[in-house]
Amino acid sequence: MRPTYFKMEPQMDLIKKRILVSGGAGFIGSHLCERLLSRGHDVLSVDNYFTGRRANIANLLTYGNFEAMRHDVTMPLHAEIDEIYNLACPASPVHYQFDPVQTIKTSVMGAINMLGLAKRTRARILQASTSEVYGDPTVHPQPESYHGNVSIIGPRACYDEGKRCAETLFFDYHRQHGVRIKVARIFNTYGPRMRPDDGRVVSNFIVQALRGDDITLYGDGGQTRAFCFVDDMVDGLIRLMETDDDVTGPINLGNPQEIPVLALATRIVALTGSRSRIVTQDLPVDDPMQRCPDITKAQTILGWRPHIGLDVGLLRTIDYFKNLLALPDIKQAAE
Ligand code: NAD
Ligand code: UDP
Repeated sequence: MRPTYFKMEPQMDLIKKRILVSGGAGFIGSHLCERLLSRGHDVLSVDNYFTGRRANIANLLTYGNFEAMRHDVTMPLHAEIDEIYNLACPASPVHYQFDPVQTIKTSVMGAINMLGLAKRTRARILQASTSEVYGDPTVHPQPESYHGNVSIIGPRACYDEGKRCAETLFFDYHRQHGVRIKVARIFNTYGPRMRPDDGRVVSNFIVQALRGDDITLYGDGGQTRAFCFVDDMVDGLIRLMETDDDVTGPINLGNPQEIPVLALATRIVALTGSRSRIVTQDLPVDDPMQRCPDITKAQTILGWRPHIGLDVGLLRTIDYFKNLLALPDIKQAAE
């Protein structure tokens, strides 16, 4: 019997499209594949499984309109498609700094290969860019017009500058070749299907709290972030893809509910009922001190804003990790 993994949405899209999601086995990518399938589209996930997990898409494979291909986007790809969501790239600082050269290649060569595919097939293409293009911002909250404050040579530059170059490529392919582009600047997003060893703050704190381990607060926790639940993010990405051709972005997508990292730690300890202690560790080099999206453009152009508040989203994520950590072989669960 087919697992009832996702609900078919009552209103499926009228035109069935062939949609490629690079990074489709990752955290956001797998939710996006699921949502697009539920709208009746043919979906092709393209992933090299660097940080993505087969488990994230295992249930989708039972559906005839879903395919998964192991492929590294730094290599050219031939496929017939109508739309591309380009999400392939490690997103956690721990993972993108593990092999920084590969991170830049993934952003830059991956963008060139996906844009080349979009050019040949006349597909629309959406880039998953990032709030990291603003670096350690001196303008707060960050509007799309802000050009950022990025270290060119620091340990985060492989990701930040790679993503900035990818945005440049998107706009050059648009101007030079008429490729129909959409650029989303994604702010911190969290939810089920993050890896337990992802390294980002929400998954780290929840896993530590559930295990009763020390909560690793980097610095004094006064630095801020604004956290968006993954369902809201997927909604924003699809809305952006469906705009008219003259809407290219960049458009910020994120939840403007800003919170200091220390307050996030305290909230997660409270919501999990954990006895974990909060211990401080050194703040990583170039860690941005404040971050919060100005989502005026998303509100006016897409009619989009997040609906899932922090406590609701955290409780859903805590439930996910409780179940994951209860599995007999957690290593196998991470495959
Ligand atoms: P993730 O690490 O879970 O997903 C990235 C996916 O890309 C993984 O499945 C990974 O295996 C795949 N990948 C990496 N390199 C690849 C390559 N060379 N070829 C093919 N596949 C490759 O991270 P995520 O949080 O789901 O992020 C998805 C996208 O959204 C990324 O592009 C990221 O930069 C962007 N983004 C995410 C956030 C966030 O807070 N989650 C914030 C800003 C931007
Ligand atoms: N952070 C932390 N403890 C952790 C992981 C992260 O205090 O175990 C902090 C990190 O220093 C940063 C914030 O939480 O200030 C968000 O980090 P994350 O890696 O999730 O994403 P970033 O927004 O920095 O890319």
